[in-house]
Amino acid sequence: MAKKWVYLFDQLDEARSYVGGDWEGVRGLLGGKGANLAEMTRIGLPVPPGFSVTTEACNAYLAEGMKFPGEMWEQELAALAEVEKKSGKKFGDSKNPLLVSCRSGAKFSMPGMMDTVLNIGLNEETVNGMIEATGDPRFVYDLYRRLIQMFGSVVMGVPDEPFEEVIAEFRDARGAKSDTELTADDWKGVGERFKEIFRRYCGIDFPSDPYEQLRLATEAVFKSWNGKRAIDYRNAAKIPHDLGTAVNIQTMVFGNMGQNSATGVSMTRNATTGEKKIEGDYLMNAQGEDVVAGIRATLPVEQMAETLPNAWNQFVDITRTLEQHYRNMQDVEFTVERGTLWMLQTRDGKRTAQAAVRIAADMAEEGLISREEAVMRVTPEQVDFFLHPQFNVSSRKAAIEEGRSLAAGLNVSPGAAVGVAAFDADLAESWAKKDGKKVIMVRPETKPDDVHGMLAAEGILTSRGGRTSHAALVARQFGKPAVVGVAALNIDMGQRLMKVGDKVINEGDWISIDGTTGEVFMGQLDTVVPDISDPWLMKLLLWADEFRRLDVWANADYPHDAKRARAYGARGIGLCRTEHMFFQAERLPHVQRLIMSNDPAVMRESLDALLHFQREDFAGLFRAMDGLPVIIRLIDPPLHEFLPSFENLLSELADSKVRLQHAASLKEIDDLLKKIEENERILKSVEALHEANPMLGLRGVRLGITMPELTQMQVRAIFEAACQCAKQGVDVHPEIMIPLTCHVNELKKQREALETVAKEVMAQERETIDYKFGTMIEVPRAALTADEIAEYAEFFSFGTNDLTQTTFGISRDDAEKGFLINYVQNGILPENPFVSIDDKGLAKLMQTGVELGRTTRPTLEVGICGEHGGDPKSIAICHRLGLNYVSCSPFRVPIARLAAAHAALKERGAGGHED
Ligand code: ADP
Ligand code: MG
Ligand code: MG
Repeated sequence: MAKKWVYLFDQLDEARSYVGGDWEGVRGLLGGKGANLAEMTRIGLPVPPGFSVTTEACNAYLAEGMKFPGEMWEQELAALAEVEKKSGKKFGDSKNPLLVSCRSGAKFSMPGMMDTVLNIGLNEETVNGMIEATGDPRFVYDLYRRLIQMFGSVVMGVPDEPFEEVIAEFRDARGAKSDTELTADDWKGVGERFKEIFRRYCGIDFPSDPYEQLRLATEAVFKSWNGKRAIDYRNAAKIPHDLGTAVNIQTMVFGNMGQNSATGVSMTRNATTGEKKIEGDYLMNAQGEDVVAGIRATLPVEQMAETLPNAWNQFVDITRTLEQHYRNMQDVEFTVERGTLWMLQTRDGKRTAQAAVRIAADMAEEGLISREEAVMRVTPEQVDFFLHPQFNVSSRKAAIEEGRSLAAGLNVSPGAAVGVAAFDADLAESWAKKDGKKVIMVRPETKPDDVHGMLAAEGILTSRGGRTSHAALVARQFGKPAVVGVAALNIDMGQRLMKVGDKVINEGDWISIDGTTGEVFMGQLDTVVPDISDPWLMKLLLWADEFRRLDVWANADYPHDAKRARAYGARGIGLCRTEHMFFQAERLPHVQRLIMSNDPAVMRESLDALLHFQREDFAGLFRAMDGLPVIIRLIDPPLHEFLPSFENLLSELADSKVRLQHAASLKEIDDLLKKIEENERILKSVEALHEANPMLGLRGVRLGITMPELTQMQVRAIFEAACQCAKQGVDVHPEIMIPLTCHVNELKKQREALETVAKEVMAQERETIDYKFGTMIEVPRAALTADEIAEYAEFFSFGTNDLTQTTFGISRDDAEKGFLINYVQNGILPENPFVSIDDKGLAKLMQTGVELGRTTRPTLEVGICGEHGGDPKSIAICHRLGLNYVSCSPFRVPIARLAAAHAALKERGAGGHED
């Protein structure tokens, strides 16, 4: 028997058993749209009868040089005959003709990517039959011209403009403001003219044979899988290219049969905020595409409660059924034909990050999904959006006061964006990519051809379209701030400018848009990153905390960072970089004097001054982290970093010498000579400290061993601060971290010297502090000899930035501005190893470090403090390796909490599907 290429909507079970039972497989075979139409049919919802031609048929068609695979067409005709039986109409019949739509639908929804043809089956003969059957010639001639237009543009590639011009002509001739005023004769005339256009562009007559229409439309859907815009979209959305699309053939239902008919698109909850309230647009007396195309102003869907109360009540019930059934927020299409509701599509709805979080949390509380599933459904990227820029309040206020507030539209994708206006996708892309400009792409509305420009832009602004418009969908999916439907905005593509009243913005002028509020401003507003205090996010993260095994700590150098980290849920400080404290203006001179002086008295004086500063810094941290561990890393960078640059010193010196020759007074000569002397002294120190390869030079523990005074001062400061805080009732847990160890003897020697100081201070202060000594693991040798090192370390912290550098033998700064990008683009490296832990190499080294370390010291505490600690992929690796915690920037803490929970839940096989 030949392969089954065609499944009726009520043959879901057969499709399911063909793919071996799982829903993903069904979606793969029938496409998302087809699978859900079949599923809605199965659970008894009103779906117009139809069938799906499989994605396998599409792939076979494309593989076989654009030929239908054997028996596919015959099966399609047989299925059509079944549909005829169900609907009681006949395809191509002159009395009671069946009309169908031909709809594409791949496994993953690709909004607007591949086109649909409605009203297939109309020709001169069936038109008359329909007129007789409905008694409404105006309606039928409108359908017919729509078919010619859609078939022309979708199947044959005829542009829309000539069609639109004809309609405009007829409107003008009648003095009509809108299409609704056109009569049956007008539409009949329009249809005739459309056929001429068709003939002119295609060189053939519009196919009057309904079966020919169906065949060509089926082929067009298959071919559209490999259309440029579909390929672009798949590339951007990372959808594989070999899935193919299904074709859905479905009985037409008509939303344009008068005032008791309508068509609409809805989300079962608010896709922007997540609020549990149906949200959508609909049009009375209209056909499908009209809503999305933004041709007529749509009405909020809840108004159906008044205009079509019965259909509305049924619709509300159905949305509940769908949510219960799919256990997710749904995005649905429906049509009401003379009071009867029909469901035409359902799929998991796209949503903003805020909405995703709220919906997941709400659904768990409603009992629709488990808490585990709720946590799994939110992605780390979505949590990241809570940290996305918003306009600075005073900057926004100033803009309003200065009259730079331009207009407001629909807030369809949150976040603030600032850029220069670009009025087409190509320009937006080239300005952004070639010229490095920040761009806001501005269009009357967007089309699938515009996606590349939208992706390159900071944000998107359109004058037309609603919450379900193409611009809104794409923006939400890719997290671009967007404002759409700004009716006040007059875009003049000819002059390349836009106007609101008498305000004019030329292409290239700065504008600012707020996708959270829908506001549009002239000029550049300042942006800020908001605090995450969203109650649903908080709830979700608390659930995540219950599931994860990894602890999440933060890297923080100052008390205010520590406070923020703690507010975001950090349970410790994994890295405080003490040298940052040395760079501040009032401290740097002391550091410089210390480095350059040979005079013990001067050195002591400088150390004392620094001790005072450091003690305060540490006390602040301990107070902020009361009750939690604080890891303080002793000085790490090479000393020359604290001195002025060699080049600057040289040019200053040369400058002084020139000025000396032209000096006018003795005083000036004196001053200059002093300056030159000072300069030369510093220059000598800088020269002495100069290293060919500072990254691998005198730094880290090597520095501490060479110049013990500095690290001893730091440890003294830590313990004095700890004792002082403890006396005030603060619960302190300092952990002293020694950087860049590569041999156990380094650690042994340095620890001995430092612990002596610690004990001295505690004895003096009569306090016992709960402390640890440990080391960073930043060079391969340390990982490879971790068993030895663990004898002197109570904890390890992987400094994966240096460890990546020393493992790869790559200097990050040099690599990232040079060959590394190339490496990644050419696939030599799968990704930038400084962004995500290299799973093959680095992870192995880390594993060795963890395992060896714990053989000597089973209680060894192991964490990571490199930037990788905030990267979800790397967090999964840390989880796998059995680390105790990850430490990341305070802003990444919420993301890390979620990612750590994901890692734990995935290991348990718990889960939830991610769409
Ligand atoms: P898209 O993927 O672009 O949304 P669809 O195939 O869903 O394309 O269809 C486009 C529009 O046509 C939608 O509004 C849809 O509801 C409508 N439509 C599709 N098939 C039918 C049908 N059989 N009867 C009435 N309207 C239909
Ligand atoms: Mg659709
Ligand atoms: Mg380091």
